[in-house]
Amino acid sequence: MKPLILILGYLTAATLPLALSWGIGGPPRPFRQELASGLGILAFSMILMEFVLSGRFKSISRGVGMDVTMRFHQVMASVALGFALLHPFLYQGTPSGGQRPWDPSRQLTLTTDFSDLATGIAALLLLASLVLLAIGRRQLDYKYETWRLIHGVGALLIALLLLHHTVYAGRYGSQPAMTWLWGAMTGLAVGSLLYVYLLVPLFGRTRAWRVTSVTQLTPRQWQVTVTPEGHPGLDYKAGQFVWLNVGHSAFSIKENPFSICSAPAAGPAVSFMIKELGDFTRTIGQIKPGTLAYLDGPYGSLSVDNRNEPGVALIAGGVGLAPLLGILRQMRLTGDPRKVRVIYGNRTAEQIAYREELAAEDVTHVLSEPTQTWQGETGFIDAALIDRLFSADEFKDWVFVMCGPAIMMDIAEDHLIKQGTPSHRILSERFDYD
Ligand SMILES: Cc1cc2nc3c(=O)[nH]c(=O)nc-3n(C[C@H](O)[C@H](O)[C@H](O)COP(=O)(O)OP(=O)(O)OC[C@H]3O[C@@H](n4cnc5c(N)ncnc54)[C@H](O)[C@@H]3O)c2cc1C
Repeated sequence: MKPLILILGYLTAATLPLALSWGIGGPPRPFRQELASGLGILAFSMILMEFVLSGRFKSISRGVGMDVTMRFHQVMASVALGFALLHPFLYQGTPSGGQRPWDPSRQLTLTTDFSDLATGIAALLLLASLVLLAIGRRQLDYKYETWRLIHGVGALLIALLLLHHTVYAGRYGSQPAMTWLWGAMTGLAVGSLLYVYLLVPLFGRTRAWRVTSVTQLTPRQWQVTVTPEGHPGLDYKAGQFVWLNVGHSAFSIKENPFSICSAPAAGPAVSFMIKELGDFTRTIGQIKPGTLAYLDGPYGSLSVDNRNEPGVALIAGGVGLAPLLGILRQMRLTGDPRKVRVIYGNRTAEQIAYREELAAEDVTHVLSEPTQTWQGETGFIDAALIDRLFSADEFKDWVFVMCGPAIMMDIAEDHLIKQGTPSHRILSERFDYD
């Protein structure tokens, strides 16, 4: 889906309940109370939209890219929390005490029915905890799967608590039309969780894969290849990624995102280049050929298909080579006439993967901790190195695809923009799904 359509879709869905609530109207109230209600309504609809911004919907992550989807998800969660925090405080000064004879439309009265307020308070506390847990996740030492579970169950609870609070405590939410709308929107949000954790795995069970090889590439990097089991495989573009589940039930939450480093043109088998990092990736070397695997995907928008730039620059740091290798391989297998230049940074020479395959390419290896015998580039992939490798025309006309450590991508991206590369010619992906 095109980014503009996605933005319009988001704005429409997030503001629809507010527009309808105010359309339904009611006796006029002071501006502060309308603002309080408005912020509460917006916070709820934005929270419901967070479910579809989870990065697990292909049309969204393909349209704007996974990085943008996840950053937007995080920013909107914080904005919704800000609105939700302001919401009760703006009501301060409003007489409370439930429906009064002189105020049948609750124009001037806030409910004090504890259950109606309690669900709102509980949702607010849960939301604040989830946002704080997300921000401090790396500092708090617990397993990623535990975080995913807390995040999913917490989000589900928040949606249900807010539905109750909005319908029973809300002046607008209690109107039949709005009750239906909130019910439908919450249903869709909850349905999206069921889709990701129930329907996708259910479908995945009919499209199992089998590990056919596990090869050590460098001391801490592995290549894992899986082959489809009785189905034609994955319809993907070079540079995309999947959620890989190896050796667990199709319904397990033990799945990790990995870029595909093989090319679609090479056939149905799919390969991954995986670096040891934590509990799952450190056990890659122990995976036995024949193990059952499930792939959910493809996701992501790191692709140079259907682009008309005369050259493709592939800038990789460490295991960030994986999606770029997929792109390079696809270009070679399909006889793509575009020029390709690869810059590949590593700490030491022994970390360079696929060295022989890359030797046939226009490749510049960069080492930050070279030995004395190293004859290539040294240091980091920085502005000076990029300037040495690309001409002024190439900066303007080529497409630059990069993947690697955040600092490398920030430096390269800033420099390319400074050198006149239009932003639509800079494609990047961070191996970060938080
Ligand atoms: C789009 C994308 C593509 C990626 N492609 C590659 C690749 O081609 N090769 C490669 O080596 N790595 C890739 N990664 C990174 C890879 O997913 C993590 O290194 C891996 O999930 C770590 O799992 P672990 O259990 O070994 O480590 P842990 O110690 O459990 O986690 C280390 C960090 O990895 C991330 N992570 C862990 N588990 C998950 C999960 N289930 N879902 C999402 N993130 C998780 C978290 O940020 C966590 O803090 C990619 C990541 C993303 C987002």
